[in-house]
Amino acid sequence: MSNIVAIVGRPNVGKSTLFNRLVESRKAIVDEVSGVTRDRNYGKSTWNGKDFSVIDTGGYVTNSEDVFEEEIRKQVHLAIEEADVIIFAVDVEGGITDLDQAVASILRRAKKPVFLAVNKVDNHQRIMDSHEFYGLGLGDLYCISAMTGSGTGELLDAVVKNFTKDQEVEVEEGVPKFAVVGRPNVGKSSFINALTGVERNIVTEVAGTTRDAINTRYTKYGHDFYLVDTAGLRKKGKVHEDLEFYSVLRSVRSIEDSDVCMLLIDATRGVESQDVNIFNLMIRNKKGVVILVNKWDLIEKDNASVKKFTEQIHERIAPFVDVPIIFMSALTKQRIFKALEAAIEVYENRQQKLKTSKLNEVLLEAIERYPPPSIKGKYIKIKYVTQLPSPTPSFALFANLPQYIKEPYRRYIENQIRENFNFSGVPLQIFFRKK
Ligand code: GDP
Ligand code: GDP
Repeated sequence: MSNIVAIVGRPNVGKSTLFNRLVESRKAIVDEVSGVTRDRNYGKSTWNGKDFSVIDTGGYVTNSEDVFEEEIRKQVHLAIEEADVIIFAVDVEGGITDLDQAVASILRRAKKPVFLAVNKVDNHQRIMDSHEFYGLGLGDLYCISAMTGSGTGELLDAVVKNFTKDQEVEVEEGVPKFAVVGRPNVGKSSFINALTGVERNIVTEVAGTTRDAINTRYTKYGHDFYLVDTAGLRKKGKVHEDLEFYSVLRSVRSIEDSDVCMLLIDATRGVESQDVNIFNLMIRNKKGVVILVNKWDLIEKDNASVKKFTEQIHERIAPFVDVPIIFMSALTKQRIFKALEAAIEVYENRQQKLKTSKLNEVLLEAIERYPPPSIKGKYIKIKYVTQLPSPTPSFALFANLPQYIKEPYRRYIENQIRENFNFSGVPLQIFFRKK
């Protein structure tokens, strides 16, 4: 199960610089799903063999020059609720400010491990200056320079030692794990209740997990599946819901732990930016996706409604539009069975391993029909294609000059794969390699 590290602190102390440094180390080994822009606020990292997610809470503040104490307070509270470990960043140049004091007083009461990172300690003089931060009453100081990286190793050693979720949760192989995610009030709990016939608060928890995320297994409508982190639906009042990153932070863990995510969208509100944020989080994690347009019962429909709504969704999630969309109602239970079927299908699509012979037969012909454009008079020849043995569908195309193959051609190949095989709802990775 994934561990989540949140970076909190007032603006300009260096949170995003630190975030970039932590995520950087990982970037080289993990290939991003192509076509997805990198998230400035959420990323993966690894240290001493332990993988974790990093969230820069400050990155979600729209206007960081003019941030209100109240907003920072909310962020810190949310980080405490959702993250496993918190890095509190302060700035040695500015010394302790009122805002630092305010954040520290919240963190002192937090029942989560907190690490105080005194940033911009670029030289020895500044180590002396850093001592005043003992005054925040948060214990040890980690003097770092996010810019040069000095001290970040010691900080990470301490951070990963405090992970609580390093054991894999016991789940049976081959049984799909679904996450139900979406903005507050889109109908997640109603949907789960309708689907499982169990009220949320009496959902039984699988033994062996002590807190937070829980996988609950169901057999419904002839299908066997887990719902991941239904505990994540617990209501926390409305205090944080207006925050842009609320849904992201609340969804991260269940998305990471699932195979397929069911993203609920509120039909009465259309596609909103929080919906798109969550969608991108799923794609970045290479999860299967089904979009469920809920509260369809409330819409005055005509012949064009489905088409119009579909177009609106496609516009917001492009270029990855090969995703099942189901129009449903958790209230009337209309199409909830279909929603489950769609998720099962996406799970199966994501599991499939294509035969190399079939793949080559189809793709080499497509490549012959439309070869990569030659560059500087050099011909690019793709010789063969294979699906990699990775947990999510990835393909390698071997070529004489892979470095000259550009994004539009990669997209062409992806479209060809999608046209010839069923990868609906499944993000694909395509690599060009030297042969
Ligand atoms: P955030 O608002 O907390 O995310 O802060 P940023 O990461 O945007 O950094 C604010 C400013 O501090 C930028 O100009 C950074 O270049 C600078 N900065 C960040 N880390 C360091 C550091 O370790 N040393 C120094 N000298 N400057 C830093
Ligand atoms: P959550 O915060 O995403 O778990 O949302 P809830 O399941 O608590 O639903 C929020 C509100 O929307 C509740 O008042 C539900 O009764 C209502 N609701 C949920 N699904 C539907 C639906 O399909 N149709 C209608 N009309 N109302 C719904």
